Amino acid sequence: MVYAIPFFKKMDLRLIPLNQIKGIGDKTAQGLAKLGLFDVRDLLWYAPRTYIKYPEIAKINTVSEGQTVAIYAKVDSNLRENKNAKMHVTTFSVHDNTGVFQMVFFRQTYLRSVFQAGSSFVFFGTVHKKGNHLQMEMPEYFKPEDYERKLKSLQPVYALTKGFTSKSIQKYIKTAMDEFFPLKDDLSEEECRKYSFPSLSVALKDFHFPVDRDSFLNARKRLVFDEFRDFLKAINESKKENTSLPTDYVIKDFETGKNYERSLPFPLTDSQKKAIQDIQGDLQSGFAMRRLIQGDVGSGKTLVAFLSMADTVNAGYQCAMMAPTEVLAKQHYDKLCADNENYNLGLKPVLLTGSITAAKKRAIYEGIENGDYDCIIGTHAIFQEKVNFKNLALVITDEQHRFGVKQRESLSNKSNAPHVLIMSATPIPRTLTMTLYADLSVTVMKDLPNKRLPIKSCIIDGKLRNNAYNFIDQEVKAGHQAYIICPMVEESEDSSLENVTDYPNKLQAKFGDRISYSILHGRMKQADKNCVMNDFSDGKTNVLISTTVVEVGVDVPNATVILIENAERFGLAQLHQLRGRVGRGDAQSYCIFLDGSGKCEENERLSVLKNSNDGFFIAEEDLRLRGPGDLDGLRQSGEMNFQIADIIRDYDILMMAKEYTDKSK
Ligand code: ADP
Ligand code: MG
Repeated sequence: MVYAIPFFKKMDLRLIPLNQIKGIGDKTAQGLAKLGLFDVRDLLWYAPRTYIKYPEIAKINTVSEGQTVAIYAKVDSNLRENKNAKMHVTTFSVHDNTGVFQMVFFRQTYLRSVFQAGSSFVFFGTVHKKGNHLQMEMPEYFKPEDYERKLKSLQPVYALTKGFTSKSIQKYIKTAMDEFFPLKDDLSEEECRKYSFPSLSVALKDFHFPVDRDSFLNARKRLVFDEFRDFLKAINESKKENTSLPTDYVIKDFETGKNYERSLPFPLTDSQKKAIQDIQGDLQSGFAMRRLIQGDVGSGKTLVAFLSMADTVNAGYQCAMMAPTEVLAKQHYDKLCADNENYNLGLKPVLLTGSITAAKKRAIYEGIENGDYDCIIGTHAIFQEKVNFKNLALVITDEQHRFGVKQRESLSNKSNAPHVLIMSATPIPRTLTMTLYADLSVTVMKDLPNKRLPIKSCIIDGKLRNNAYNFIDQEVKAGHQAYIICPMVEESEDSSLENVTDYPNKLQAKFGDRISYSILHGRMKQADKNCVMNDFSDGKTNVLISTTVVEVGVDVPNATVILIENAERFGLAQLHQLRGRVGRGDAQSYCIFLDGSGKCEENERLSVLKNSNDGFFIAEEDLRLRGPGDLDGLRQSGEMNFQIADIIRDYDILMMAKEYTDKSK
């Protein structure tokens, strides 16, 4: 393999696949692709999920099995090496003034010269118990002064897939930096000075290898600025291109929708009526609709979409509705089919998702092309180029923050200026709506269907977890179902976070086989996810243990309790979304926020949720209470799919970027 680096250096980082980096072969590149990393740009901007700090040094007599700790200890004289075994094993004991401890290293043949008797090191690793003594296997070791420095630094933790560690990802990033830095910088030195930003190259370096908290925060600021700036530029472009775009699809007859509405067993809310009015105004205007419906969870956006679809079909056109997940797409499809049948709407709906077999897909594509189907509901699969619509007049994207701006465009391109309706379930503060959706008309849906009982919420700490379980037990006995949300999929470097994989043990210990549960997370195969969701939806499982993948739109009215573990680690908007999974039926519903930090300052944020079910109020409070934020990336405001930026936490930087882009418009 020959590396033509000087040539690459001039190229767009997007055009350089990862297997061109030294040390990344095809197999590693395939693994990285699973993390969404395809090119050098992806790798360099791969945001750590969180950062951890090395711990303060502990005394040997205070550590116990399972903990990850640092101890400062002196090497005893008898270093033992077992060279005859299949593997070279080095063992030696160390001590501090409180106790002794054992260190074990595998496949390291040079240690005798490192660990000389009487020398002292800081050893960092996880404590294991072997017989009646404690040991670390393959600990990291440092000179005391080096560990001092380490203590100040932050260690990035990346989202991983099999075969990778945060360290290995760091190594690839380091190699890429060595090969391609310094990068071309969009900001001039003068601009960097004006905003007190580091250069792009320094920012990326400090983002992945922060020597201390301040340099990390500055680096992040710079990268967030860039992300907002690029986004706002795209919005400005989109605004230029999309406002007042003439369209052939003029729809003036809304009788079908009216009949549909009259058939419903409930009246529309005032917000729903207003939204429909706005949409009708757009559909008959002769210009392509570009409208965002922003409605709180449960405000009944889906129905608004269906009513518009019925009128569009009646006018002789097709419409498409896209959901961010298969689960949601299927749910919308089932609902539309049910209404179609019950109210004789005469629609020809079809479901198009990634997991449909190739043969079936071909048949569906054909049906879409010749007009056999007029309501196409699906996931991203709809975007595939193979789909040719006969006359697509209306495109609806549900929960749009899961879609990038690009994906939205690619579907609108499929037809001659179709109407586009975007539905977002994330209420955001008004000032943000105006900035982030500058290219769209906005309808806000504030009212909820009023027959529903407001969800009751409480905040507890870990000591009361057992009470929460008893409460879930009670609800399950009454025939209801429950969600339990954990922030992590698997056990992670941060052991204070609950994970979905190990959680069943907790329930098993408490309930035995009396309560049935299943688990759901983003890394499962789509078919398995569907299966789990269907079982839960059909009432076959009592408790669904899930990561935030259930956050978006899932509708299981029989679920009446949601217990959210490590609630302190989520954004308020996200928690509000999660809470919206319950309270969807007639029964009283409950949300239990479990604050794993035990700190009261967190509770000010959580108590906003406890005291209000109004998403728009919560969003404003979130903005008011925003602090510099934790270092972890879990706390996301859930909107817009930014890679590093968070619209609430980084509000001030967003405003800076807005000023910057407005000036250069
Ligand atoms: P969201 O805005 O979160 O997407 P949905 O569209 O899923 O909300 O609606 C939530 C539930 O409320 C659905 O079961 C829906 O049938 C019901 N619903 C919608 N509109 C009304 C209404 N006007 N009155 C009563 N129930 C309604
Ligand atoms: Mg919805």
